[in-house]
Amino acid sequence: MKKLGIIGWRGMVGQVLMEQMIAASDFKHFETTFFSTSQIGEKNPIDVANSNPILGDAYNIEQLKKMDIILTAQGGDYTEKIHPQLRTSGFKGFWIDAASTLRMKNDAVIILDPLNKDVILRALQKNQKDFIGGNCTVSLMMLALGGLFKQEAIEWITSMTYQAASGGGARHMNELLNQMKFVTDKVVSSTPDQSAQILQVEKKVKNLLSDPAFPRENFGAPLAFNLLPWIDSELENGQSREEWKAGAEANKILQSKTLIPIDGTCVRVSTMRCHSQALTIKLKKDIPIDEIESMIREHNEWVKFVPNTKSETLKFLTPEFASGSLSIPVGRVRKMNLGPTYLNAFTVGDQLLWGAAEPLRRMLHILLEQ
Ligand code: NAP
Repeated sequence: MKKLGIIGWRGMVGQVLMEQMIAASDFKHFETTFFSTSQIGEKNPIDVANSNPILGDAYNIEQLKKMDIILTAQGGDYTEKIHPQLRTSGFKGFWIDAASTLRMKNDAVIILDPLNKDVILRALQKNQKDFIGGNCTVSLMMLALGGLFKQEAIEWITSMTYQAASGGGARHMNELLNQMKFVTDKVVSSTPDQSAQILQVEKKVKNLLSDPAFPRENFGAPLAFNLLPWIDSELENGQSREEWKAGAEANKILQSKTLIPIDGTCVRVSTMRCHSQALTIKLKKDIPIDEIESMIREHNEWVKFVPNTKSETLKFLTPEFASGSLSIPVGRVRKMNLGPTYLNAFTVGDQLLWGAAEPLRRMLHILLEQ
């Protein structure tokens, strides 16, 4: 039985991964040790088959080295610190990771097996050991448009995103709630209908967003009653790092011979969970809309094609619908007035599931099949 070490099980991605692994009885295949950066030596709170009852030290290279597989959702700082030390110490096991740190390294594979299982299997044959989950928004877009990528129908894409607070982690999600409470506690009166004074209420809300006591430690700005059109760090070319990831990672996932340009604007919005994206897709040629629909529908079992009507869209093409599910709704599919090769689409997906935990969980199964 392979020895599996899990780090980061307490975070957003980690909790979702644990739920999925327990639901699928994955732990029966492994001897698991849960490691921690903050609760070393304490009792392991995750009651699963074949697991070490005590939490290991996530910074102890000798302990980590005993594992056949390390799976981490702890974050980039942890990976940056521990991965090089562990490899230098002679660790020959597999490293599966949710963080972006290693994604673009030559000897790392970005894993999204419904699109690139062939790439993953080739890497295993070549004895590669680092398998890294892709950026959440990129993975969700690729699953949504898998059929168009497979048929090599795409010339380029622009993607305008609407990304949830949970994309930043547990503390960001909590801060969004606190921001909302900070405002609503002060402006929602006992009068059920404040419409007659709504402009005065709106002024109060605006002032509260710049109140020194307004909670902003994690986002650095108000997200509640606002939106933030910058995610991750600044690059010299004017893109945010999140925007850069779309083209860089998608092309690495596909290992495509011809690069597909992908660019757009990434925006944080005050949804709790699920990332959405409005896509403009330039097709290489005019493809009838029913053929496009079939390509999208037939690519994978998780895509849910939503007919382009108002009622279906409002019911199924929302974070409310997609949250907590592996389903990837794709809708608003129509040819644009720009011309017959310009396609409009909108997609939503749970960025903690297909955008993070699920590709890692499936990689464990690919390793079991070897
Ligand atoms: P997170 O919720 O901040 O958790 C990361 C670690 O923070 C936990 O494992 C925990 O480690 C520690 N922590 C400290 N205070 C905590 C608290 N109050 N609640 C929970 N954990 C706390 O981060 P995440 O969003 O899961 O992201 C983990 C990695 O996945 C990152 O590299 C991220 O970029 C990547 N990722 C995230 C998403 C997403 O949508 N969130 C999507 C794709 C990829 P200890 O138990 O050791 O203290």
